[in-house]
Amino acid sequence: MPPSNSPTFSPADLEELRQRVAGPVLTPRDDGYDRETAAYNLATPVRPDVVVGAQDADDVAAAVAWAAAHHVPLGVQATGHGADLPMQGGLLISTARLQECTVDPESRTAHVGAGVRWRSVLEASVPHGLVGLNGSATDVGVVGYTLGGGLPVLGRTFGFAADHVRSFEVVTPDGRRRAVDAGHEPELFGLLRGGKGNLGVVTAMEFELLPLDGLYGGAIIYPGAHAREVLTAWSRWTADLPETVSTSIALLRLPAMDIVPEPLRDRFVVQLRYACTASEEEAERLLGPMRALPDPVMDTVGPMSYRDVDAIHMDPPVPIPYREAGRLLEDVDGDAVEALLGQAGPDSDCPLALIEVRLMGGALSRAPEGAADLVAGREGRYVIGLVGLTVPPDGDRVPAAIEGVLEALDGHVSERTMVNFLGSVDGDEDSVRAWSDEDRSRLLTAKAAYDPGNLLRFQHAVRA
Ligand SMILES: Cc1cc2nc3c(=O)[nH]c(=O)nc-3n(C[C@H](O)[C@H](O)[C@H](O)COP(=O)(O)OP(=O)(O)OC[C@H]3O[C@@H](n4cnc5c(N)ncnc54)[C@H](O)[C@@H]3O)c2cc1C
Repeated sequence: MPPSNSPTFSPADLEELRQRVAGPVLTPRDDGYDRETAAYNLATPVRPDVVVGAQDADDVAAAVAWAAAHHVPLGVQATGHGADLPMQGGLLISTARLQECTVDPESRTAHVGAGVRWRSVLEASVPHGLVGLNGSATDVGVVGYTLGGGLPVLGRTFGFAADHVRSFEVVTPDGRRRAVDAGHEPELFGLLRGGKGNLGVVTAMEFELLPLDGLYGGAIIYPGAHAREVLTAWSRWTADLPETVSTSIALLRLPAMDIVPEPLRDRFVVQLRYACTASEEEAERLLGPMRALPDPVMDTVGPMSYRDVDAIHMDPPVPIPYREAGRLLEDVDGDAVEALLGQAGPDSDCPLALIEVRLMGGALSRAPEGAADLVAGREGRYVIGLVGLTVPPDGDRVPAAIEGVLEALDGHVSERTMVNFLGSVDGDEDSVRAWSDEDRSRLLTAKAAYDPGNLLRFQHAVRA
């Protein structure tokens, strides 16, 4: 059933919902609705018929039960960083108020509510010499990211974020609250790790923290005119790096906006991202071949506090309108580099703001023992992400440019991706790309059991 264009519930039903939850219940006519539904991607309309600002897990359970009773399709949003597809109609549960965040240095664990962003975890954990496995931006929500596997900045050293989850508290579409871990409902515990928001609304999560006292990392920015030399060097360099190194490379066409550091505004540059957990001396030595490349525009790589981890990728700190896509990449050999440069090199008029290639492998390729999870991408050698701003003058050219790059990389790019990297797909091919056939079939079987009414159908829901 497609999302509704007009509410499928009556004013009396809405009043019943208001009686059942403590948090705000807002429709498009109410003040605060726009703030409650706002997404990071300004190009994606999130327009539910009603949004519940859940105050606690009881509110989540009550809202889910109400949606089930009235057959109202259900979405969930914490920070809006994953609102890749429009949401029209239905009930949105906002978990933004579920902000419990406790770190136990003894057991090296963190317990977070569903609205917590990575930044809050790091503020609590870094003083104890402990870190969680956030991705490129600590503004992203811990739970939504981890449910999609969670590809961390330190992925090659420590694996996917989902590999370190100890337990979930989740409300399944029948309105039941469940506490699941390796010993309680282990099958559901596995399916949630990588299965995204298909089987329930998570209200809290406990996960392992990793001991790390600082990092050697940052970014080196090279002139765009050197793109061939830099990409070729990166490709060779990444062939045999140890697992202590996580790295990616990005072609950036930066807008003339205040959020861009002054020397980079309105420029085409190549950005190397480097995060190394080895000793300072060793980390510096390993970086040698890339640091030897001439004429860097900027070099911030050095010893750093993990609290400053956002400086490695330098993702936009504020919401922007964009379209994106991502795929696993088999290799970045000379032919792939030429294909990329042909579409997006210094001589092209490529409108894409960012094309990044992240090195996979290392701990990312190893499933933890006993795990029957749905984390995708373990087989990936690299992953490519493409982002274009959907604003004039070039916004209209972005979809074709993304397709053009992926087509040019035919033979190098995989049909598969990770659900967190699916981006703004059109149509039903999304779930086909996000999981292997076997995992998708497991997820569909579980979906039929836990969510027979297909309530959780928004964003990157698995489709038959
Ligand atoms: C700037 C930026 C950088 C990123 N970097 C990385 C990265 O390095 N690595 C990586 O793996 N991903 C990355 N992502 C992708 C990101 O992990 C996903 O978009 C993720 O879904 C964001 O989660 P959220 O809760 O912040 O977003 P939301 O938009 O709030 O949620 C996105 C989706 O997650 C699910 N979800 C969220 N909360 C719950 C819940 N409580 N219960 C059930 N389902 C839930 C739902 O399906 C929801 O539609 C990045 C995204 C952005 C915009």
